[in-house]
Amino acid sequence: MNPALEGVEPAPFTPETSPLEVIGWAIQTYPDLTMPSAFNLNGVVLLDFAARAGYQGKVLFVDTGYHFPETLKTRDALAARYPQLEFKTLNAHLPDTAQYLEDVEGCCAARKVGPLNDYLEQTGPSALLNARSREQASTRAEISFVESGKRTRINPLAFYTREMLESYALEHGLPVNPLYWDGFLSVGCWPCTRAVRLGEDVRAGRWSGKGKVECGLWVGDKAV
Ligand code: SF4
Repeated sequence: MNPALEGVEPAPFTPETSPLEVIGWAIQTYPDLTMPSAFNLNGVVLLDFAARAGYQGKVLFVDTGYHFPETLKTRDALAARYPQLEFKTLNAHLPDTAQYLEDVEGCCAARKVGPLNDYLEQTGPSALLNARSREQASTRAEISFVESGKRTRINPLAFYTREMLESYALEHGLPVNPLYWDGFLSVGCWPCTRAVRLGEDVRAGRWSGKGKVECGLWVGDKAV
């Protein structure tokens, strides 16, 4: 935290507070703020808000080795659109053992959570900018703008609905992953992602039928 702001209460945010205002506060309060992103709809909208708010820090993407080509192209399009941000891809450099067939927890821990945790341990940011919203899944229904934990998490889109995100992306011409418009409302690795069916949660297509809804980055004992 910025030492000059130690002990200062966060601005009196309400659910209606603009993401721009939340991000502006976060930049002032946490000069070492860092943003992990998987470049889903939420992530793309957050990136645009962050750029508009003056964020010029890192955007961390974990390449598990199993991303759809469309996701990698989305990352590249975003990097070209926001040259003032430092896009960095982290990679576990693991051989393809198809571990996801038998052990999704171990696979996510090794390929996704591990590389990000290692990088954050090395670089030590005090706060993370995160794109989760309450509406995405029951595991996210209670998140607030500011969460404490190993590192403070700032969630400027906590109260944004899917409709608000889509409207924002279309209005600003953002390079949304084309898979999104084909029903992949949350896009992860290709072995563990399917299109969402009518009436399902946004994240229902992730690890479908495997009893898992979170990769472990944001919940659990290894959460960042
Ligand atoms: S989402 Fe699937 S393939 Fe990707 S790291 Fe997790 S278990 Fe492995």
